[in-house]
Amino acid sequence: MSLGFRVVASSHVGLVRTGNEDAGLASSRLLAVADGMGGHAAGEVASAAVIQSLVDSLADLPTNVGDIKDWLLEHINEAHGFVGDLIAADPDRRGMGTTLTVAVASDDGLVVGHIGDSRIYRLRDGELEQLSTDHTYVEMLVESGEITAEQALHHPRRNLLLRAIDGIHAVELDLHVLDLRIGDRYLLCSDGLSGLLAAEVIRDVLGNADPTLVANQLIDYTLAGGAADNVTVVIGDVTEHPTDTAPFMVGCAATEKVAAVSPAARRKWYRWLWLLLLPIAGFLGFNSWLHTQWFVGSNGVFVTVYQGVPQSLGPFNLANAVETSALPVSSLDSISKAGVERGIAVESLAAARETILQLRMTCAGPGCATQ
Ligand code: MN
Repeated sequence: MSLGFRVVASSHVGLVRTGNEDAGLASSRLLAVADGMGGHAAGEVASAAVIQSLVDSLADLPTNVGDIKDWLLEHINEAHGFVGDLIAADPDRRGMGTTLTVAVASDDGLVVGHIGDSRIYRLRDGELEQLSTDHTYVEMLVESGEITAEQALHHPRRNLLLRAIDGIHAVELDLHVLDLRIGDRYLLCSDGLSGLLAAEVIRDVLGNADPTLVANQLIDYTLAGGAADNVTVVIGDVTEHPTDTAPFMVGCAATEKVAAVSPAARRKWYRWLWLLLLPIAGFLGFNSWLHTQWFVGSNGVFVTVYQGVPQSLGPFNLANAVETSALPVSSLDSISKAGVERGIAVESLAAARETILQLRMTCAGPGCATQ
């Protein structure tokens, strides 16, 4: 008998944040919530990446506990490497990362993987149990007895994470195997929910039979409480008749396009990136070379100093007028005139000015008198 989940998932940006850095995944055998950090264009990339790495490989999700653990570690490390590459490419992204709480139903139990401060709860026979331990500074204070769980909810450093998938520190995932029982209800959520609603409230809402109603009510309660953070809930009811719909994502994983998280796909992606970067690098190199080139030419009327070369490349002019003299091209003798119209290459701006002085001395035509 294979057990799985009937699932409901929902995510809300909240009432204060402008973007949603939370991501959730719901499928018949795997539930996951990831809460990204690092601000806009970083947090949502990290959380979407880890969810994407899981969803991309769901077809290969093993059925026994040992293989599931390996599968989880492999894909979480993939996302870790992906985030690490992004940080290496842009050190300003340092500090980006994501939490992950994931639960996988197997033939011999529920595998729970957890890092960060998202949470997994189980409602069994009306009793609510928190199955994960927050990897936070305040949780450490609670465990050492320095503050109470109630004080932790309002502690100024309550968001400080001690562990995350951050692309830098080796991923330290809590892995547990629990028994899987028909009728159990699992709730995975981001701290936008658990940081706001007391456990008793969560338990009372989870007691409702209709999981859709439960998800809506949890989000509504969070909004009523001010919803300063993004909030995501993924609910899975253990059943012999799991949901047969396709896996679905909520939050930024549903909208954020993460190029490719798996190393093989990333290599492919880099190959294309080179095709893009080489012309850019070539252009930049050519452009800086252009800035070392000078010539004396004509702007149509006056002798002019240009930076660049006296050519055009398709629609692009490769020269910029830097200084226009008061010397009319028409006043030059025919040899000088031809040279100016073709462009006389010089070493520098100073050399260009010197050349114009010499041209002035050969000047014979009308307009010379004013020089
Ligand atoms: Mn959060």
